[in-house]
Amino acid sequence: MQRIFSGIQPSGVPQLGNYLGAIRNWVSLQADHECVFCLVDMHAITVWQEPAKLREHTLTQTAILLASGIDAERHILFNQSAVSAHARLAWIFNCVSRLGWLNRMTQFKDKAGKDRENHSAGLYVYPNLMAADILAYKATRVPVGEDQKQHLELTNDIAQKFNHDYGVDFFPQVEALIPPEAARVMSLRDGTKKMSKSDPSAQSRIELTDDADTIALKIKRAKTDAGVIPSDPSGLVDRPEAKNLISIYAALSGMGVQQVLDLHQGQGFGPFKTALTDVVVNEVAPIAVKTSQLLQDESYLVQLLHNGAQRAQAIAEPIVTEAEKLVGFVKPL
Ligand code: ATP
Ligand code: MG
Repeated sequence: MQRIFSGIQPSGVPQLGNYLGAIRNWVSLQADHECVFCLVDMHAITVWQEPAKLREHTLTQTAILLASGIDAERHILFNQSAVSAHARLAWIFNCVSRLGWLNRMTQFKDKAGKDRENHSAGLYVYPNLMAADILAYKATRVPVGEDQKQHLELTNDIAQKFNHDYGVDFFPQVEALIPPEAARVMSLRDGTKKMSKSDPSAQSRIELTDDADTIALKIKRAKTDAGVIPSDPSGLVDRPEAKNLISIYAALSGMGVQQVLDLHQGQGFGPFKTALTDVVVNEVAPIAVKTSQLLQDESYLVQLLHNGAQRAQAIAEPIVTEAEKLVGFVKPL
């Protein structure tokens, strides 16, 4: 059985893009994989997080993942900082990875913007920590949204260079599992920007804890153009907002884009948005309800993460200890 590793940052409340790009895939992959799911709190602090909020978001996300169908008994769910193997392997990878490789990473450029000098060193070396997250488990498949594809290519470069430098065949190559539909959900306010849980505007995203009224209002206010729904996908070229709403509908309804167009062609965005709201509420509302129930018992969630961390540690510790020995670090015999 292949091992999966995937993570999500507790940098806010998960949004619809996280769900369609990652979480929904995680749930279905559980059937035939050994899965390690991680709340990557060390990644989250690469940009400033209020301590109380980081804690709250970590617990909320744990509840959301359980509410979405993650099975924390059959699989592993934990927070990254609880397993020190991640940080130890990340340091080794900081020394394997090349500055030239990191300089090409578009996520750093997007997040740092023009003010590069004022961002944390952590944000810059983020992809090395991500490679360590995955390879500490020798995971071979990583379900992610399209935005993480470049980081997974870098993970493979790091694994290859480590193996080459130390003359071993130790770390495997990893495969990105990117969903065919809605792999990059765009902001509701700007169809050229990816939907993100850390975007300052909550109007730019549907959060998985939003109630039906909030979802309806956000979709109603979502940016669109004055055109109608076209009859085929060529009519969506250069219409990023229209394309985004239609692909969200397609991904949630299980229809292909063409089928959605067949159903709604000629309509303005008013009626289409009403139909889209129904589809989104149908999927998100049960998750939101279950999440708030789970959040009633904080100590259960804390204990669940702790148990997950112990099981994660049992896999990662021998792998990372072996990597340390390969590097030449003295370890107990
Ligand atoms: P942040 O803004 O803090 O980076 P984020 O919303 O980008 O938050 P992450 O925790 O970085 O979320 O990513 C978690 C997972 O969700 C990753 O697999 C990522 O590829 C996926 N993902 C994030 N945003 C989208 C999106 N807009 N569409 C599809 N997948 C996404
Ligand atoms: Mg992100």
